[in-house]
Amino acid sequence: MYYAYKYRLKPSDAHREELDRHRDICRQLYNHTLYRLNEYQDEHGELPSMTTLRSELPDLKKWWDGLSEVYSKVLQTVVERLFDNLKGLSALKKNGYGVGQLKWKPPREFCSFTYSQSGFKLDKKGGQTVLSLSKLADIPIRLHRTIPDDATLKQVTVKKEPTGEWFATFGVQMDREPPETPENPERCVGIDVGILKYAHDTDGTAVGSLDLSDERDRLEREQRKLSRKQHGSNNYEKQRRQVAECHADLRRKRRDFLHKLSNYYAREYDFVAVEDLNVKRMMESPSNSRNTASAAWRTFLSLLEYKCEREGTHFVAVNPKGTTKECASCGVSTEKPLWVREHSCPACGFEADRDANAAWNILSRGLEDVGVGYSESTSSETRCVSDGRTRASLSLTPVETALPVDTPVSAKRVVEAGSPTLKERTASAVSE
Ligand SMILES: [Zn+2]
Repeated sequence: MYYAYKYRLKPSDAHREELDRHRDICRQLYNHTLYRLNEYQDEHGELPSMTTLRSELPDLKKWWDGLSEVYSKVLQTVVERLFDNLKGLSALKKNGYGVGQLKWKPPREFCSFTYSQSGFKLDKKGGQTVLSLSKLADIPIRLHRTIPDDATLKQVTVKKEPTGEWFATFGVQMDREPPETPENPERCVGIDVGILKYAHDTDGTAVGSLDLSDERDRLEREQRKLSRKQHGSNNYEKQRRQVAECHADLRRKRRDFLHKLSNYYAREYDFVAVEDLNVKRMMESPSNSRNTASAAWRTFLSLLEYKCEREGTHFVAVNPKGTTKECASCGVSTEKPLWVREHSCPACGFEADRDANAAWNILSRGLEDVGVGYSESTSSETRCVSDGRTRASLSLTPVETALPVDTPVSAKRVVEAGSPTLKERTASAVSE
């Protein structure tokens, strides 16, 4: 499996100049290669192969001075990138290649370049971690999380964001064992994602939605200012950067929250069940917030799935049909309008928060999906029995939510502490 690890670079002014210079040489090579593609097609009536164009690079270096100043593998990835774009285009067009459709890249649209296989490494220089890029520089990097020891670094892409910041994304390869059948009920969790609360799980942890109204207000203010500036002027350019920073700030805060929440679930549990959002009950959200919310859920779930895979945790997306209506204790369905926030079963008397009840249903469906029987038991002491051949069975007891319905953990807590609970579960398990 391939994974991406993204870090912020902290280049000096001299580094920035070098990064921009290399970026621009790559851009020129991209445009030149595009021109060569067209020229070759006119001459031969067909497109050259990627190898043909890559093999022209040494000759090109003879008359193109700047080219030799860029690491050779970087130049090769520029040619590969053009072919990737071409493939993407032909997949869209179906009726053959459409080289003519590929556009020449102006400086603003060519933001990144890639070191593949060699020419880059992480290093320590003067007590600081640096990304050492061949023929370029040793650029300080903020490694806010470590890359696992067993990971193989395959490539690194350095990219300039519209704000002017530079980031490095490592493509790494890791061989992970497929997750084992979940055995410990305490390490299995079902999560219900929603509008009023961001998430509610079977451990009674409820997390509130992230409040970004201040950031949105600021963005609107800066956008209004931009609309009053004269297009193309120096002030316009300055203000455009302000707006780009607001966008980046919003994106950063949202991603940060989703990263921390998904990290928490992937690390603390062996088994995570969620609803399959392709068929998620979208009707529950008011139309104006529907798109934003569903986009955020999708991001959350894709991060969660990816991290679960990385941590060796089972990830299951279940059919969401009727998860709020069904009773987690006895299975009887009862109609429940959106404004009814509690689940109270007329058949068995089980009472819980609406979302907690849904989370329990999600968990039991998830366990069924992986072939683990879900047996109801009044004793939470019972552990499951699994001999590897017979169906494993977990004893799970729906419990009433530990938190009052109206006071979920704030999203702010997740951002500050990196976890919605006061104590990480692993830490509490050790102390027991
Ligand atoms: Zn019931």
